[in-house]
Amino acid sequence: MKLCKKCGAYQNDTRFVCLDCNEMLGDSLSSDEATQIEGELRAKIQKKLNEDDPLAVNKTDRIIGNMSLFGIAVSIFMALFWRLLMYNVFNEGFYLALGALVLFIISALYALAFRTVWSWHVLMIRIHARIGDDTEPSCLSLIERKITIIFCFTVALVMLAFAIGYAISYTA
Ligand SMILES: [Zn+2]
Repeated sequence: MKLCKKCGAYQNDTRFVCLDCNEMLGDSLSSDEATQIEGELRAKIQKKLNEDDPLAVNKTDRIIGNMSLFGIAVSIFMALFWRLLMYNVFNEGFYLALGALVLFIISALYALAFRTVWSWHVLMIRIHARIGDDTEPSCLSLIERKITIIFCFTVALVMLAFAIGYAISYTA
C-alpha cells in the first residue's frame, strides 16, 4: 500500500502514479502500517453499513442485550433458589423470578438477535397472510423493537429486584 503525499489517497503497491491526482507515488508503507490502515478502513466501512442496515445491533443494543443475558443468569439462579434451596416454595419470589427470566430473554433476543426475531416475524406474516416479499422492517416495527427492549428490560429488572427482595426478607 502506498500513500499519496499530495492528496492523501491510499494506492495499490503496483501503481507508480496516484490514480486520484496523478502525483508520483513514493515507496510502499511498511506492512504494519498497511495492516493498521486496512483495519481502520474496514471499521469505517462496517460503521457505514451498520448505519444503513435497520437490523444492525448498535452500541446501546449491545449493552442492554448483555445486561439482559446477565439478568437471565440471575433470574435462573433466583428461581432455583426458591425451588431447590427453599424446599419447593412456590411463592411470589419464584413467579417474579420466572417472569423476569421470560422478559430478559425477550429483551436479549430483540437487542442482540433482532435479525432472527425479524425472520420469524416475516415467516409468520407469510404463513398467515401470504403477502409479498416485503422483508424490510418498517419504521414502526423498528420503534416497536426499541419499545419492546426498554419495556421488557425495565419490567424484568423490577421483577428481579422484588424476587431478590423477597429472598432477602425470607432468609433474614
Ligand atoms: Zn494523489
